[in-house]
Amino acid sequence: MDNLNGKIAVVTGASRGIGRDIAFALAQAGADVVVNYRATTEAAHSLRDRILALGWRAVAIQADVSSAPQVADLIHQTTEQLGPPDILVNNAGIARVQRPGEIQEDDWDYVLNQNLKSCFLMTEAVLPAMRQRRWGRIINISSVAAQTGGVVGPHYAASKAGMHGMAHYYARHLATEGITVNTIAPALIATDMLAANPSASVAHIPVGRLGDVSEVSSVAVLLAQNGYITGQTINVNGGWYMS
Ligand code: NAP
Repeated sequence: MDNLNGKIAVVTGASRGIGRDIAFALAQAGADVVVNYRATTEAAHSLRDRILALGWRAVAIQADVSSAPQVADLIHQTTEQLGPPDILVNNAGIARVQRPGEIQEDDWDYVLNQNLKSCFLMTEAVLPAMRQRRWGRIINISSVAAQTGGVVGPHYAASKAGMHGMAHYYARHLATEGITVNTIAPALIATDMLAANPSASVAHIPVGRLGDVSEVSSVAVLLAQNGYITGQTINVNGGWYMS
């Protein structure tokens, strides 16, 4: 297992929910952390301060990761303030709950840009420095929606399934360069996103309860520490989808 001491992790959408817990768990495992967020500045700053209190370096950087110029600025600021990223967690995402017949072209484009284009932009932005140093960990947070269709909408399911194809491509092409690319596919983790979706019923979950953010973040830390797992999807879903 690789030691994360001194590694620099960028976690997108780290102000709340799953991303927040992954960022703190990576810091507890020894990494310096960039807490990226879009709007909730106070929450991002409070997480940065919790990580600083552990004794590691941390910065909170506002950027909409669906925007190429903002992604370029995020990576520029990261490199200036902490150094080039070693670990990228593509966690930022949105769920726009809509049924067939309600979804307009704008909805489709918005969800795909927020959830999938962001993952591509961030991956391309961190790769040059990872390839130069021949070490990198890229961890994508998709969803059970990629596998079952889920309970948000076809745009959300497609955006998450796209992350799987992207991860397979990058994993194969980067395997000889010390860079692993994996995906965590969660289901029904107790966060703000889940609370906003009335269709997200625990009845879907064989283990009979919602998941906790720590049950996702522990897998993210494992993937960051392990150099022999690549191109995989790890399902953290209470048994909803069994592979
Ligand atoms: P959440 O509680 O709604 O938090 C979303 C986070 O993403 C927030 O920190 C938000 O920032 C950030 N964000 C959203 N769009 C962004 C953008 N364009 N640029 C930068 N940051 C952005 O969601 P969550 O439940 O933790 O979900 C995290 C990820 O897991 C998502 O990709 C989601 O699709 C996936 N997922 C969640 C579940 C679940 O059951 N919760 C299940 C499957 C998959 P602000 O705070 O600044 O708004």
